[in-house]
Amino acid sequence: MEHSSRQALEEIRSTLTQMGRDVTIVAVSKTHGPERIDELAELGLRDFGENRYTEARDKFPEVHYQGPLSPLIYHHIGPLQSGFARNLPGLFHWVHGASSVSAINKLARAADKYAQENPAAINKLWPMQYLVQIRLTGEETKLGGMDPAEFLNLESIPENDSLKFAGFMTMGPEDQDPIETREVFSRLRSLRDEALPGGELSMGMSGDWQIAVEEGATIIRLGSVLFGPRKGAPWKKD
Ligand SMILES: *Cc1c(COP(=O)(O)O)cnc(C)c1O
Repeated sequence: MEHSSRQALEEIRSTLTQMGRDVTIVAVSKTHGPERIDELAELGLRDFGENRYTEARDKFPEVHYQGPLSPLIYHHIGPLQSGFARNLPGLFHWVHGASSVSAINKLARAADKYAQENPAAINKLWPMQYLVQIRLTGEETKLGGMDPAEFLNLESIPENDSLKFAGFMTMGPEDQDPIETREVFSRLRSLRDEALPGGELSMGMSGDWQIAVEEGATIIRLGSVLFGPRKGAPWKKD
């Protein structure tokens, strides 16, 4: 049977209701086409996530949804790279994978420049928001993230009128061991409570979102559970 996004979303929502929790679901649309974003928006999701700038750049203009949830909110969930930071304003509203001060500074400058050049784009989704990605698994993954001690030792956290520091993001351990996963999410929450009480906690993916919600996630990033298995390659316009 074909994957039913409607049914998957209903199950997730009813679990969240049973848990008594209201969290933001970011639907991670990477490798899937713009028509799937339209479909999920029709089902009531407003937040969408992509990890590659080029894929998002080509895909978002092909999204046709114009309903009560417009404008949709786009989240960059891949690592924030200095060389690409200037491309993100105007395309993404949230950036989850910030883990170097120099890249955040580049993003802050780019966001300010974008705001000056595009006053019409400065709407209620402005300023941009970013989350610092923290690495808590001990694994040296390619996905990176800042060490908690490194974060706590920062002299200042970049922000300006166009870019706000909104909280933290992390990834659970790759082997999805439930005990370690819970430990990782709980440590991110403690860091948030210490460094930015009330700030956002972006944690939990298809395989571990319930643990993340139990540990206080405010944003969960769901790909395959909503869209079905990912395609082998990024989406391209043909
Ligand atoms: C792909 C991705 C997700 C979604 O993964 P699923 O396991 O398919 O839900 C979440 N967060 C990040 C950073 C990702 O790259």
